Amino acid sequence: MALDTASRGVSTLPTQAQIVIIGAGIVGCSAAYHLAQRGWRDLVVLEQGPLFETGGSTSHAPGLVFQTNASQTMAALARDTVELYSQLASSEGLPCFYPVGSLEVASTPERWADLHRKLGFAQSWGLAAGLLTPEAAQAKLPLLNASRIYGALHVPSDGIAKGVRSAEALARAARAQGAAFYGETPVTAIEVAQGRVQAVVTPQGRIATERVLVCAGIWGPRVGRLAGVSIPLTPVQHQYVKTSALPELAGETREVVQPILRHQDKSLYFRQHGDCYGIGSYQHQPLLVDAEAIRSRAESPVMPSVMAFTPEHFERPWTDAVELLPALAQAERPYQINGLFSFTPDGLPVLGESQQVRGFWVAEGVWVTQGGGVGKVMAEWLIEGTTSLDLRECDLQRFEAHAHSRTYVQLRGAQQYREIYEIIHPAQPLEQPRPLRVSPFHQRHKELGAVFFESRGWERPQWFNANQALLSQQPGPERAGWAGRHWSPIIGAEHLASRERVALYDLTPLTKLEVTGPGALTFLQQLMTNQLDRPVGRVTYTAMLNPRGGVRSDLTITRLAEQRFQIGANGPLDLAWLRQHLPADGSVCVQDITASLCCLGVWGPLARDLLQPLSEQDFSQAAFPYFTAQSVSIGAAPALAQRVSYVGELGWELYAPAEYGLYLWDLLWQAGQALGILAGGRGAFDSLRLEKGYRLWGVDLHTEHNPYEAGLGFVVNFDKGDFIGREALLHAKTQGLTRRLCALRLDDPSQLVLGKEPIFSGEQVIGYVTSANYSYSLGHGIAYGYLPLDFAAPGTPVTIAYFGERYAATVSPEPFYDPKNLKLKS
Ligand code: FAD
Repeated sequence: MALDTASRGVSTLPTQAQIVIIGAGIVGCSAAYHLAQRGWRDLVVLEQGPLFETGGSTSHAPGLVFQTNASQTMAALARDTVELYSQLASSEGLPCFYPVGSLEVASTPERWADLHRKLGFAQSWGLAAGLLTPEAAQAKLPLLNASRIYGALHVPSDGIAKGVRSAEALARAARAQGAAFYGETPVTAIEVAQGRVQAVVTPQGRIATERVLVCAGIWGPRVGRLAGVSIPLTPVQHQYVKTSALPELAGETREVVQPILRHQDKSLYFRQHGDCYGIGSYQHQPLLVDAEAIRSRAESPVMPSVMAFTPEHFERPWTDAVELLPALAQAERPYQINGLFSFTPDGLPVLGESQQVRGFWVAEGVWVTQGGGVGKVMAEWLIEGTTSLDLRECDLQRFEAHAHSRTYVQLRGAQQYREIYEIIHPAQPLEQPRPLRVSPFHQRHKELGAVFFESRGWERPQWFNANQALLSQQPGPERAGWAGRHWSPIIGAEHLASRERVALYDLTPLTKLEVTGPGALTFLQQLMTNQLDRPVGRVTYTAMLNPRGGVRSDLTITRLAEQRFQIGANGPLDLAWLRQHLPADGSVCVQDITASLCCLGVWGPLARDLLQPLSEQDFSQAAFPYFTAQSVSIGAAPALAQRVSYVGELGWELYAPAEYGLYLWDLLWQAGQALGILAGGRGAFDSLRLEKGYRLWGVDLHTEHNPYEAGLGFVVNFDKGDFIGREALLHAKTQGLTRRLCALRLDDPSQLVLGKEPIFSGEQVIGYVTSANYSYSLGHGIAYGYLPLDFAAPGTPVTIAYFGERYAATVSPEPFYDPKNLKLKS
């Protein structure tokens, strides 16, 4: 039976529960709803404030929902949210979602170009959208000053979500299924024993439970600390005002009928409230608040998540607002707040279970826009252990250790706030904190004029200005605009020289794991699709699946001894997955050895000529075949040499203890002078790997793809015994494929695309670009994308939308470069 106990001070709490959800904002209510829908009955939601105007961010959110996002996952979460809220109503029958549509206007040519790119995201992710002329935009929103804009992106299914109303409606449905909500019941302690949640404690009593789900919004870090878990986010103040009645809207009694509006060039957004208007501004410098400093309800004049308005920050935004909507000019602003909400280091939500404290789940850093969808995936995750949507970008485990520090969270949170409406190039490097992590080769990179970008804290060369000398002619087409940013023709020169001579690529930042112990082989066999019971010294390329058969990662695993394996992994998510599945008997140990080793890719047709004279080991094809590894000495430096290459050339990856790194680099560099050795950057690395058809996890494949769709069927070995995802994969194989990752060649050699663009057959969107680059070896643009089988045959013509233009492309056999692997195995 539903327990409704918002009453103050009465201890009616149950003594135990299947799960305790902390927080009854939109996220907590959505999670409770989805869990209850899926049959969880014994679930309790505890809220420190009153239900459902709790005093959290949901209580004052104006509820604009823009679904278009550069992240496919965020767009999908928003789409699910719109679908959910659209089905809900208040107990009086008022809607929870108003699909009034959205307009994002451009007041600069750069923004107008960017809206074309954004239209591409919408089309790629299956969202109906279009671009409007200023006049057409004004026809939808007559208050708009059409003379100030170049045009607008229009998404008809966007609109206004009523946050509190939705939360209440979701809670009502959850209660009908047995969920219990308790207002004014703060969680003051979380009991943890042997690394597992045991109970939550409130002034009204203790609830024994094995699981908590923290949906505490800006209080998240505080609740995390109750269990010793870091939740990396910072509360930030954000301004929102409401005007007095506008004469232009006189008599308008409906809540909202006009499209919501974004004016990103001025960091503003707008919505109608009956006969008034609401304006939000991100224009001011970030005003961070420590989670510990959030005031209690008793101390808060309005509510805990509302701080005093700072008028000095709203002067310029108001002028800008009036310029776009002149009708505002005479209006007063009776409602003005600095509201609080959460910013994470990368601007994306933080979802999932803690590794340190099992049973401690979080759903934090979530907007109303994604609240419905997040509740759905959290329920899937809790119930099935996996999700239908790929959540790599939102997973709590995605962060490196430094990302949990207060310094990093504050620096990055502030930067996310600043950049929220800026036009950000995907290759634009972070500004701070840098440099944070450097490889032993960093000094040499600087001497060679490296242009660095940052990845997971590491400084990584994108190209080397010292290689300017390699540029005899322009490699590939001239690049203007977006494609020319954070790019240099030197990348093309490094690409071509790597195919002709020998190059050093710094692979130190790649995550390296070691698995040891008497149970190591059995453990890995249960997680990996490929056969790992191979002779010591063999390297195996394999996939790791989730229970649904989706690719969690692709890895290179080297058997160093009977029960000792070194793994080339994709990042912290892999480490977390391995640790999550460790046997309880302690027979396996998994360690992150990234920092202890440096790694150089020594690649190119002259790689053997470089290495052989420096080593007493035999680097010949017969003695050191492809996909094998040996302990070697390079000069006096001990190293593990692996005969693999992600760029598709002869070569070895050398893993040496980090302290030998500088010696190793200098030795190879000196010896390589006679061979025309060069340093290669990440830019060339990417174009080389793509023309060789090597997939990039997280881009070309993730958990929404199975290995067959991704073209990795060759890493699946059903005969070796059971592994996670085997059953689902067998089922998928029996059902047959419906889509496949295809290679596309752009027909016009002067054209190229960059990734995430929609792929069309006629006017029908049939897929989107996963990876794209220029094939400098072949002299044309290349791209990959999943296409329905009807369009997957080589020779099929398609078009790709790029900033509003359509580029012709043709499905091609792959890989583009060295399809018989002759270079690799020479
Ligand atoms: P909350 O709504 O804050 O809920 C968390 C709950 O946890 C609170 O009720 C709190 O009382 C409770 N809690 C915390 N600690 C405890 C404890 N120890 N014990 C028990 N309970 C606890 N998003 C949009 O999508 N569109 C918008 O237009 C939009 N506009 C915004 C405008 C402003 C001015 C602001 C500040 C935010 C806006 N947002 C918007 C963001 C959005 O409001 C939030 O991201 C969202 O409401 C967060 O929901 P939540 O459920 O995670 O957090």
